[in-house]
Amino acid sequence: MREELIAWYRERAQERLDRRVGVWAERLGVKPGAVLVREQRTRWGSADAKGKLRFNWRIVQAPARLLDYVVAHELVHLLHADHTREFWATLGPVMPDYEALREKLRVMGPAMVW
Ligand SMILES: [Zn+2]
Repeated sequence: MREELIAWYRERAQERLDRRVGVWAERLGVKPGAVLVREQRTRWGSADAKGKLRFNWRIVQAPARLLDYVVAHELVHLLHADHTREFWATLGPVMPDYEALREKLRVMGPAMVW
């Protein structure tokens, strides 16, 4: 039962993440590589140097705006590898409420890990 449920979530996650990566990549003017959905316990997403994006399927349980935060955050990593001032200065103009979203994700996150 648990495996079936996770498989279902993973499919939904792939669909939603593909769609939102498209929207945010255009907004940020970046060209991401593959969008991979993974089983991760401690991270919501990551981006490697080649532009490949990996997301935790669990993020699909979050409200749309939080999923968007994770997507936009990882896409900004294609421009800035670390959380430097430049990183946040790139995210800020396209997502002015990012600090509140980040905090919400921190608070809600644990409930999405099961
Ligand atoms: Zn980051």
